[in-house]
Amino acid sequence: LVRLEGVNKHFGPLHVLRDIDLSVGRGEVVVVIGPSGSGKSTLCRVINRLETIDTGTIVFDGRELPAEGRALARLRSEVGMVFQSFNLFSHKTILENVTLGPTRVRKVSRQQAEQRGMELLERVGIATQAGKYPAQLSGGQQQRAAIARALAMDPKMILFDEPTSALDPEMVQEVLDVMTGLARDGMTMVVVTHEMGFARRAANRIVFMADGQVVEEGSPSEFFTQPSTERARDFLSKIL
Ligand code: ATP
Ligand code: MG
Repeated sequence: LVRLEGVNKHFGPLHVLRDIDLSVGRGEVVVVIGPSGSGKSTLCRVINRLETIDTGTIVFDGRELPAEGRALARLRSEVGMVFQSFNLFSHKTILENVTLGPTRVRKVSRQQAEQRGMELLERVGIATQAGKYPAQLSGGQQQRAAIARALAMDPKMILFDEPTSALDPEMVQEVLDVMTGLARDGMTMVVVTHEMGFARRAANRIVFMADGQVVEEGSPSEFFTQPSTERARDFLSKIL
């Protein structure tokens, strides 16, 4: 579904993505792990063009990523993104947050968007919170609302950048459960996370990044039991 080839990205003198080659197939769940500053967030951001790249190509759904205009708007609606900070509109209700994209961008009728929105809130387990404002919800509920909002656009893929890192520990699992459900239902997902339990259970493939490079990739069973690089072994010994 998405393929990066020879992607390089600098921030000034800092070389943050180095010759990245990575493909994510339809329905695949790729978990990206690696030390702080290794370029994981930047990788997510270049996939939906929140950041430009210096060299290389990114092909999404058979076409090279558009740089601007209507094609870029379409790309953004086809690639959902869920961040560490939930990024909900604070002055809108949960249901309004979920229906905003479909009504504004997709020109879906309000009634249809609300019906679908309620189904999605049901799916993530917060239908009873539909009329509340984000600040009235727990962190876990807000993050589940953010996932419902991403789903409302019928994305072909969702990028998750440390979706549980800002949550109190007791709320992590409810969000991971929703994500595991999506993975089972065949959603294509790229997930940056430190939740190794989730990575083992839900990932088809682990991508280990360090210093802007993909240092190692493999199935969770390979990666966690016998990482082939010293960098990965070192990283795992610190987090497991
Ligand atoms: P973390 O685990 O801490 O979230 P990360 O792997 O997501 O780290 P990135 O956020 O992708 O890392 O950052 C990679 C490098 O690029 C870091 O050194 C960071 O300081 C730098 N960087 C990221 N965004 C910018 C920016 N907008 N301008 C300048 N430097 C940036
Ligand atoms: Mg990051």
